[in-house]
Amino acid sequence: MGSKRKKRKADDNCSPENSRDVDSPDSDSSMDEDKYKVFKIDNYCRQYPEDGGNFEYIVIYESTDTRPLGDRDLMSLGACLKRQSKGIKRFKRINKYKVGAIFERPGLANIALNNTKVQKDLHVKATIPATLTEITGVIKNVPIYMSNKSIYNGISSSRDVVSVRRFMRRSRDEDGNTSFLPTQSVAITFACPTLPTNVHINSWYFEVSAYTPPVTQCLKCLRYGHIGKFCKNTQRCSICGENHHFKDCTKNSTEAVCLHCNGNHIAISAECPIKKKKIQENKIKHKTVPFSSLFNEKSFPSLNTKTKPTDNINTLLQNDDFLKLIIASVIKIISVNKTDDSPLNSEGIKNIILDTFKISSTNTN
Ligand SMILES: [Zn+2]
Ligand SMILES: [Zn+2]
Ligand SMILES: [Zn+2]
Repeated sequence: MGSKRKKRKADDNCSPENSRDVDSPDSDSSMDEDKYKVFKIDNYCRQYPEDGGNFEYIVIYESTDTRPLGDRDLMSLGACLKRQSKGIKRFKRINKYKVGAIFERPGLANIALNNTKVQKDLHVKATIPATLTEITGVIKNVPIYMSNKSIYNGISSSRDVVSVRRFMRRSRDEDGNTSFLPTQSVAITFACPTLPTNVHINSWYFEVSAYTPPVTQCLKCLRYGHIGKFCKNTQRCSICGENHHFKDCTKNSTEAVCLHCNGNHIAISAECPIKKKKIQENKIKHKTVPFSSLFNEKSFPSLNTKTKPTDNINTLLQNDDFLKLIIASVIKIISVNKTDDSPLNSEGIKNIILDTFKISSTNTN
C-alpha cells in the first residue's frame, strides 16, 4: 500500500495564496458528484488471512435456485460438501436460506470459497462474512476537499485497505430539501480482523479509532435492529402506535404516545429513554468486544446449545481490553506479594482481579 502512488512533480505552488482553495491537486473538481461516493478497490476478493487469529473459519452457502438451502436434505448436502472440500469440521444451519461449513484451517476455507465447480453443481453460492475478515475504523480531521479516492491513493498503512467512505451529514434548507454535506470524519475498512492504531495520508499521521455502527430502527414497524427495506412486519404509526402510516394518523404529534415507552414523544424520537439505552448498549458492545466474536455468538447460534467453556475463553482472549486487565491484575498481585510478607492465597488473588475489573468498569462509564 502507499507505494503505489507516483511522486508528484516538485511542488512549486506551496505559497499560501497558491494552496488548497485555489488549485488543489486533490480537489477532484472535475468529478464532483462522485467525489464522496464510497470508494472500493477493484476485484477485491474476500479471503481468510493465513494468520487471521483464533476464530472459526466459516464458509456460508446459499441457494442459487428458488429452493431455500435450509429446506434441502441437509444430510446429503453435508455429505456432498464433505466429499468435495477438504477440512470441514462441522456444519450449522443458520436459517432457512443459509448453512455454514466450519473449516479447520483458513487456507482450506479459501479453497472451498473459490471452488466454483462444486458451487455450480450444487446450485449454491459460497461467501465468507465481512465481520470475520474486515474491520472498519474511523479517522478524523480529513480535509473535506479530498475525495474518497484521493484519500485511498494517499494512504499508507500496515494493513490492506479495501474501502474508504467519508461520513456525510444530512442537511435541510429553508424549503425543506435535504442534501448531504461532507464531514471531516472518514471510515476506512481494512482487510483484516484487527484495527491498526494509525494510518498515514500523504505522510500525515491519523489515529484510527473503532467504528461503532449506528443503532438501526425500522421506519416501518419501528422495531430496533433492522431497516425498513427488508421489513416483513406490519406498518406501525410513530405517533400513536396503531397499524397505519404516521401520515394517515388523526393525532397531532404533540399527543404522541411512544409505543416503546408510553412517553409523550414519537417512537423514533431521540428523547426516548429506550432509544437512549439502545445507543448506550451499542457503544459498550462495540467498545469491549471484537467484531469477530460478536459475530460468532450472535449470528451463528449453535444447533447444539451447549457451548464449550473454551469457546468463551477464546472469545475473551481475543479482546485486548480483557488482556490489559489481566496484565494489570498480575502486576498488582506481584507488587502486593513483594510488599506483604504474608503468603498470597487464591482468595487474595481473586479479590485483586475483581478489584482491577471493577475499577476499569467504573472508569469507562
Ligand atoms: Zn421493521
Ligand atoms: Zn397513528
Ligand atoms: Zn419512547
